[in-house]
Amino acid sequence: MSTRAQQYAAVVLRREQRSDHLVRLVLGGPGLAGFVSTGVPDEWVGLVVPGQFQSRYYTVRSWDGTELVLDVVVHDVGLVTEWAARPAEELVGETVTVTEPKGSFAMPAGAAWLMLVGDLTALPAMARIAQTTTRADAARAAVPTRIWVEVPEVPTGYLPEGLDVTWLPQPGEGRSRLAEVVEELDWPADEGYFWMAGESSQMRAIRKHLMRERSLPSTAYDVMGYWRGGATRQPRAVDPGPIWRAGKAAGKTDEQIWADYDEARHE
Ligand SMILES: Cc1cc2nc3c(=O)[nH]c(=O)nc-3n(C[C@H](O)[C@H](O)[C@H](O)COP(=O)(O)OP(=O)(O)OC[C@H]3O[C@@H](n4cnc5c(N)ncnc54)[C@H](O)[C@@H]3O)c2cc1C
Repeated sequence: MSTRAQQYAAVVLRREQRSDHLVRLVLGGPGLAGFVSTGVPDEWVGLVVPGQFQSRYYTVRSWDGTELVLDVVVHDVGLVTEWAARPAEELVGETVTVTEPKGSFAMPAGAAWLMLVGDLTALPAMARIAQTTTRADAARAAVPTRIWVEVPEVPTGYLPEGLDVTWLPQPGEGRSRLAEVVEELDWPADEGYFWMAGESSQMRAIRKHLMRERSLPSTAYDVMGYWRGGATRQPRAVDPGPIWRAGKAAGKTDEQIWADYDEARHE
């Protein structure tokens, strides 16, 4: 049996600009038949855009059985960034590949509170998490939820009404001071759950802080690096297709082809 993750071909149905840096992509089509949500509210898929073979990860903002919604942050450069920044007339009708979803959020049943911290890339997950935790259901009461979001601009109407949200200005493209923000937080006394996602080095600092300063057990938090900043020079956007084909024709291994591709991006 193949261990390869299931993949789905999806067609771009709509593109909506949610704020200067946030683009909503609505995907659909018969290729998504069989796509099943995990139900975990921070679930994500791998996305491969046309002409590329590398994937990038995006949160499933919603899946209603027909339409799959991804909210994509457009930053200065980037493979998906440059594809998604194009106008709706060009994007609609294009076919992308998405992988089957996976999730990580695992709030303990008895959690008395929930704190969510992240940047614009984490906002889709935080919105979806808040939609589930702030609503009581048969299994549990609503959990008091506080959110801190670092953003280049506030996307109006994005989060459900009535939430306790602190919007923080992002210090610049590719930069984040979320670790500092978390180190200064007032921590509730009883047991709850802390979820955070954003720039990887900030997330590493916070994992250390939670373990050493706060002595939290690993079941009490989930901290994920969503993207890597700090590169002194941004890699060039290079079409890997020709490099792949030339490498294959020359009998190179996948690893050698990846190395060639990396080299071309940093030339
Ligand atoms: C589980 C998971 C869920 C995610 N969910 C979402 C989501 O819902 N929406 C979303 O927009 N992103 C999400 N991300 C983050 C997204 O995968 C990365 O930001 C990705 O690198 C963007 O791809 P790109 O092709 O545009 O840029 P890349 O080609 O990957 O990067 C190009 C350059 O831009 C820099 N860069 C990458 N991301 C950022 C950024 N966010 N800000 C500033 N500089 C950046 C890189 O360091 C690199 O130098 C998620 C990541 C993970 C792991």
